[in-house]
Amino acid sequence: MPILNADLHCHSVVSDGTLTPEELAARAAANGVELWSLTDHDEIGGQQRAAAAARAHGIKYLTGTEISVTFADQTVHIVGLGFDADDPAILQGLRQTRGGRGVRAREMAGQLAQAGIEGTYEGALKYVGNPELISRTHFARHLVERGVCKDTGEVFRKYLTEGNPGYVPHRWATLKSAIQWIASAGGMAIIAHPARYRFTANEEFALFGEFKAHGGRGVEVVTGSHSAAEYVKYADTAREFGLAASRGSDFHSPGESHTDLGQLPFLPGDLVPVWELLADRIR
Ligand code: AMP
Ligand code: MN
Ligand code: MN
Ligand code: MN
Repeated sequence: MPILNADLHCHSVVSDGTLTPEELAARAAANGVELWSLTDHDEIGGQQRAAAAARAHGIKYLTGTEISVTFADQTVHIVGLGFDADDPAILQGLRQTRGGRGVRAREMAGQLAQAGIEGTYEGALKYVGNPELISRTHFARHLVERGVCKDTGEVFRKYLTEGNPGYVPHRWATLKSAIQWIASAGGMAIIAHPARYRFTANEEFALFGEFKAHGGRGVEVVTGSHSAAEYVKYADTAREFGLAASRGSDFHSPGESHTDLGQLPFLPGDLVPVWELLADRIR
């Protein structure tokens, strides 16, 4: 049933969100979310707390994460849902993916210092909830606090992105590994916010083709990162590639995220929602 208030993408203080898993569960419940997943970047340390808080609010829950992948020299995000959060292979894979963020952050700070903005590593650290997960978002919050930019959107237009100060290229997990970690732990791999990438049509076709070939099964169609036209475009892609469709706000913070938990349009009625294929994984 595509008409379900499912929100299967958001972030807590365990990665780059500003709310705890418990605060997110309460907010999801208040917003009428019926099925929820916390999908912290490269990390599943918040899963037990999220599942317990969901239960306390009477919301159904799927385990979740959002894995950073490098494909055709770009960063692609793969959401995993419904996996066993105690599975040793996914735990090890995510630990390996988190590794290197510390060194990368120091290089980012080095570049920003060369551009005249000193002390950003220490500044970003003040926003970090999980020492293994320092991200560009934490730098962005610090640059806003300092008045370098007026909001995080401006930070990502002027800094931390390709061609701008503070951008450090990074090798994340391979597409194949990320899908295998999720699938072997009993979960489903989903391409997150496909409209956000800057692929050519051929590269995007290759991404979807390889994703399917490695066992990927879903795509985010309705997400806080897509426009209404992009819902239509990626609904077509889901049909073309025979992928199930997902829905998620990608909520990070009350002050920053323009889409709140549970507030998106429903999925187009003819698509197969990911939760239909994950029915036995819902808690
Ligand atoms: P990282 O994993 O350290 O590369 O950081 C990626 C995170 O930065 C994403 O998950 C978003 O939360 C944030 N981000 C990336 N681009 C933007 C943008 N244009 N505007 C706001 N946040 C962004
Ligand atoms: Mn993020
Ligand atoms: Mn993402
Ligand atoms: Mn996300």
